[in-house]
Amino acid sequence: MLTFCPCCANVLIVEEGPKCYRFSCNTCPYIHNIQRKIANRKYPKLKEVDDVLGGAAAWENVDSTEETCPRCSHPRAFFMQIQTRSADEPMTTFYKCCSQSCGHRWRE
Ligand SMILES: [Zn+2]
Ligand SMILES: [Zn+2]
Repeated sequence: MLTFCPCCANVLIVEEGPKCYRFSCNTCPYIHNIQRKIANRKYPKLKEVDDVLGGAAAWENVDSTEETCPRCSHPRAFFMQIQTRSADEPMTTFYKCCSQSCGHRWRE
């Protein structure tokens, strides 16, 4: 599930607030508290992955492959494989558009 910031349309991350989980935006001060308790423990994991993908350094020296960008149709994308859950589950592949003006990121 992806939720987008109503202010700047970036993907919101889920973080643990003082009282409950909350959505927060990386690029603007938007925060939305989630009243219902989240039982699904994969949310913090997703945040970790988001942190990995958020740093520009994470995408340095990674290989590119023939993968079409869903946003701008650029034919190549950088890719990274990350173990997001337990070790016996398959790796998740993340892509970043090779186009400098796009830079769109998505997961397999
Ligand atoms: Zn925002
Ligand atoms: Zn693109």
